[in-house]
Amino acid sequence: MYRKNEIIELNITSLTSDGDGVGRAGEMVFFVPNTAVGDTIRAKVLKVKKNVGFARVEEIVTPSPDRIEADCPVSFSCGGCVYRHISYEAECRAKRQKVIDAVTRIGKLDGELVRDIIPSKNIDGYRNKAMIPVGRNRDGEVVMGYYARHSHHIMHCLRCQLSPPIFNDIIEDVYAFLRHRPALVYTPQNRRGIRHIYLRYAETTGDVMFCIVAGSRHFDGEDVLYHSIKEKYPQVKSIIVNVNAEDTNVILGKHSHTVYGEKFITDTLCGLRFEIAPEAFYQINRTQAETLYAKAKEYAHLSGGETLIDLYCGAGTIGLSMADKCKELIGVEIIPEAIENAKRNALQNGVHNARFFCGDATSAAAKLRLEDVAPDVIVVDPPRKGLTPELIDTIVQMSPDRVVYVSCDPATMARDLKLFTEQNYSVKEITPVDMFPRTSHVESVVMMSKVRSRFNKKSKLIVNLCYYC
Ligand code: SAH
Repeated sequence: MYRKNEIIELNITSLTSDGDGVGRAGEMVFFVPNTAVGDTIRAKVLKVKKNVGFARVEEIVTPSPDRIEADCPVSFSCGGCVYRHISYEAECRAKRQKVIDAVTRIGKLDGELVRDIIPSKNIDGYRNKAMIPVGRNRDGEVVMGYYARHSHHIMHCLRCQLSPPIFNDIIEDVYAFLRHRPALVYTPQNRRGIRHIYLRYAETTGDVMFCIVAGSRHFDGEDVLYHSIKEKYPQVKSIIVNVNAEDTNVILGKHSHTVYGEKFITDTLCGLRFEIAPEAFYQINRTQAETLYAKAKEYAHLSGGETLIDLYCGAGTIGLSMADKCKELIGVEIIPEAIENAKRNALQNGVHNARFFCGDATSAAAKLRLEDVAPDVIVVDPPRKGLTPELIDTIVQMSPDRVVYVSCDPATMARDLKLFTEQNYSVKEITPVDMFPRTSHVESVVMMSKVRSRFNKKSKLIVNLCYYC
């Protein structure tokens, strides 16, 4: 039995889905962050449970060939990057393995279905969105930056390599403004002042949205701050104050006020122009989003006559990028501002075969089914928690020829794929796409197709003879 603070030697043989190294010592499995497959390390035991333990690297005895110099001073404590110390090639290998592990262990599917991962073209500076928490440390000093790993502790850090340089410059300027004004920082007691700086960057137009999330609509010195940002950065096309005085983990509050310029920024994706409100989801790696959408379009296999449903459609981006290849597009999304964007985005891009509904995907799909909408293809792109079993049932009953599942969480995706495969759909192909280099996250696109015709779409009569066997 190992004890806390004991020093042990470990060979790291694999990585967890969060990117921690895994090494065995006798019957025990130890998890050690910031290690690489092929490392031999001396590690300090931090915690021991029945068969698993947690440890921290004390010394790298033999480094893995995957190792590279970590080029960020906070990479080992920050909650963002977990793979700055290994080559990008090794990172992509780990991410593909993460998808294979999920689909085989949870989804009970053949790992051979998982194709090669599509690496990202840009490994740094790819983020077009940053949400920078603002707080005060124990000494009352203003801190801004990123959350430490597995915590809500703000690590003071003004520059991040995943962000475009203009974000880092603006954040430094905001810090210079706030540094001597700690009273302007939100606390659960004062419920006023600044909580987050939220930035968005439209890569193709260069436009930047500067949004302050604050407990109150106004704060001292706001004019000075807005003026200096506008003067110094003509790319800032929109300044917004979002008011959030609630004590939750949700960053944005319900009300946004446009202080300057537009209430959205405009970017180009897949040859279409998109307006994006602060509340609306937008893929954070624009260039790679085009690759992701191209793969989804390939898997949708549209020929022009289809009815396509895009569930969890955000500002309409995936569906609109496919609208030229289908007869009718129906998009569903729960955030009202995103649906407003989707409708305008359709109009402005001359897409006339699209309708968008605001609502919960599960109930909206059930409603569409009752209205006898008969989709040929359904695309789903849910948040991390994946689909509800009820929605999967409804999709199966709607009986589309193909379902394209875009997922940012391999584990919930694998859980959902299992339900589809138990109900008349088979998984044809899974392609991991790296949208988030240096972090542990990986996106996947899945093509599923109907195994046999169980439902006659119009009459809903079961036509499969096996039903009577
Ligand atoms: N397909 C879009 C958005 C994907 S992100 C794109 O590629 O940009 C997932 C989206 O699902 C978000 O826009 C989120 O607001 C939305 N969402 C979350 N829960 C939902 C629900 N229960 N019903 C419908 N949409 C939901």
